[in-house]
Parts: sequence; C-alpha cells; structure tokens
Amino acid sequence: MRVRVGHLYPDYLNIYADRGNIAVFERRAAWRGIELSVSAIGVGDAIEPGAHDLYYVGGGQDREQALIAPDLAEKGLALADAVAGGSAVLAVCGGYQLLGAFYRDVSGGEQPGAGVLPLYTVAGETRMIGDCLIECELEPGVQRTVAGFENHAGRTYLEEGAEPLGRVIAGFGNDGESGFEGCRVGRALGTYLHGPLLPRNPWLADWLLAQALGHAVGGEAVVLDPLEDRLEEQAHAVSSQRAHDRGGKT
Ligand code: GLN
Repeated sequence: MRVRVGHLYPDYLNIYADRGNIAVFERRAAWRGIELSVSAIGVGDAIEPGAHDLYYVGGGQDREQALIAPDLAEKGLALADAVAGGSAVLAVCGGYQLLGAFYRDVSGGEQPGAGVLPLYTVAGETRMIGDCLIECELEPGVQRTVAGFENHAGRTYLEEGAEPLGRVIAGFGNDGESGFEGCRVGRALGTYLHGPLLPRNPWLADWLLAQALGHAVGGEAVVLDPLEDRLEEQAHAVSSQRAHDRGGKT
C-alpha cells in the first residue's frame, strides 16, 4: 500500500518544525510496511484532484503567508475538489488560516484564502501563545485529546454550522473566546497546534493515515495495526500537563 502526500509550500510554511509532521507520517507508515511518497507543491504547481491522498501545509509568519497566499487561493477550487473526492488534509496555523476565506494580517492587509474551510481570520493586537489541549471526537462517541503549542495573532471565526476540530480544555484555540479550536470538513483538518503536532498525538497521525489510505484504495478508512506508542504517550502527557498548568494565560 502507498500513501501519496502533497506538501504545500514546504519552503515557505514551516515553523515550529512543522515539517516534522511529515516525518511522523513517513515513520508510522513504514512501521506498517506502507510506502509514503511526498511531493512538494509550490507556487505555480497545479493541484490534480485524486493525485494525492493527503495534503499537508504548515505554519508561517505573516510575511511568508503573503508570498504564497495568491497562489494558494488560485488552487482553492482544485483543493476543494480533492477534499470532496476524499483526500485527507492536515493544515497547521498559517496554512490553516489560508484554507479559509481570507486572513487579515497584523499590517491590516487582506490575504486571499483558498476557501476550502468555512472560516475567516483577523489578526488581533496581541499574540495567543502557549501550550494548548483540546478534546475532539473524530469518530462518533470516541473522545480523544490533542496537545500542542500555539502562537498566533490571528483570531479565526468559523461560519455558522461549521464543525470545529475540538473543544478547548486549556489554551486559546481559534479566538480565545469561542472555546473551540480548529475546523473539520470530512477528512480535512485545520488546527493552530504546532510542536510539531503529530509526535505527541500518535492517534491523530494514524487517523489521518487511515483516511488517506481509504482514499488510496477508493473506500473507507483503512484499519491500521496498533503501534507501541509508549514514548509518544509520555510526550502527550507532558504536553497536556503543561497546557493545564499554563495554557491560555497571557
Ligand atoms: N502569521 C499567522 C499569525 O500570526 C500564523 C502564525 C503561525 O503559523 N504560527 O496568526
């Protein structure tokens, strides 16, 4: 089995070691004998719906976001088609913001978004920085926690009826007020959580891999063999405790 990953703007959107999420996908696939191919998708590259099982985009400073935003906006329809076709997506922070309608940045400039996620973002006066812990339910009746680190000026507002990724237990989340973090549309997930995110949230890495494999085989998410995640669970516990101790405090 093989998972084809499309890594959007790896040279522009990669802060807080966000690239590490790709390494986690690669390792957790390899430990199960699954091949993972990663192709960079940059400015001017086309998105061919169906060509990738999983799209990944990391975070970035306002300056880097502004450099790629017009190009990503042009890719919006094709990306939305890919998501409608069952491709999985993980979008982190600056990448998450630009999958919405727009991002009005700290300078007041409006960066166009891809319109894949039902949300928009406006930068505030202060940055929301610190450890964050959320609870989410990607499978009906199965509550899991996600722990990570957030650092953003953007306040993200979900459109009416949009599904957040999770409920904030500790930290700021989308806007520091709604009590929600991230956004989900089918197999497409957006979040403010860096770290990188996946080393300390192995279940989330597996959930995305399983969805991507489902796309690769043209069906439901594939059930993956469990891995021994002792270190990952310890990292999750430490990160969760840090969020409890100091998340959401300015
Ligand atoms: N530049 C955006 C903001 O400040 C995103 C930051 C990030 O990706 N960490 O909100």
